[in-house]
Amino acid sequence: MILALAGGVGGARLANGLATILPPEELIIVVNTGDDFEHLGLHISPDIDTVTYTLAGLNNPKEGWGLAGESWAFMDALKRLGGESWFQLGDQDMATHVERTWRLKTLPLSAITTEFCARLGVRHRVAPMTDDPVRTLVETDEGQLAFQDYFVRRRCAPRLLGVSFAGLETARPGAALLSALADPELSAIVICPSNPLLSIRPILSLAGVTNLLSRRRVPVVAVSPFIGGKSVKGPAAKIMHELNLPVTPAGLLSFYDGLLDGMVIDRADADLADSLTGCAMLVTDTLMRNHADQDRLASETLDFTRQLSPRQDHKLM
Ligand code: GDP
Repeated sequence: MILALAGGVGGARLANGLATILPPEELIIVVNTGDDFEHLGLHISPDIDTVTYTLAGLNNPKEGWGLAGESWAFMDALKRLGGESWFQLGDQDMATHVERTWRLKTLPLSAITTEFCARLGVRHRVAPMTDDPVRTLVETDEGQLAFQDYFVRRRCAPRLLGVSFAGLETARPGAALLSALADPELSAIVICPSNPLLSIRPILSLAGVTNLLSRRRVPVVAVSPFIGGKSVKGPAAKIMHELNLPVTPAGLLSFYDGLLDGMVIDRADADLADSLTGCAMLVTDTLMRNHADQDRLASETLDFTRQLSPRQDHKLM
């Protein structure tokens, strides 16, 4: 059984490849919820939706978020009324947010995610990292901003000084994450090519998760979200630069601070990996332009995990 940790776009792409190869009982995808927020009275879980829509084959591959074939009547009507229009909500997508918000009055996010997956024909397990609220906050040269304010409204323009996760200290890791980490059938943990700081760190920082990770004996492999020192999409590289974290295989290795047994990096970064020790490297094409790329990279990553034996002394983040 593979435990995949994912954020939005990059995570969803690799998770989709893993889901093509592995049967439903052999994969669980645990998704960041630090990007979740309340907007227009609705609870929005961007990363969960990106993963779910992608696995359902309903995603908009051009944007990386939202549904294919959307219409925008709601947004047009909202603008006419003078409502806040910086966060795009397609008409079909709105149904997800309205129905989720309504159900959250009586159900945890994990149960709603399971039900939505079933309804959308997603057979693999997708679970939020926690059912408790965690909210990413960014410190910038313009003051503290809620994550979506910074990410979408301000298009990551302010200079980043630091990141924090409100609620993380008291949030309990989701039941699916805990049971995957305790599962005797667990054979590897794959960190998808998601934003290390904003999408993966919150999952790894949940209370107790590092402890459980220290006791496991399965390999942990990260697929790099960086190609040639740049992010494929989004601000990951800009953010890493602003926080003085090098956008290189060595930078990623040091960011994960002793956690990794293996790293999958792009051919464009092969030279930079020559001198790295303490972590096995797979050098391949990591850009996922289409489904075939996703399947190939997932398959190569799984083969790579099978060749690794985990180290005994995992240092923790
Ligand atoms: P977000 O929450 O939507 O920002 O999504 P993630 O954290 O999952 O993804 C952002 C990261 O995905 C960025 O750093 C991108 O570089 C990375 N990414 C997106 N597509 C690809 C791809 O095809 N290959 C690789 N290696 N990384 C990708």
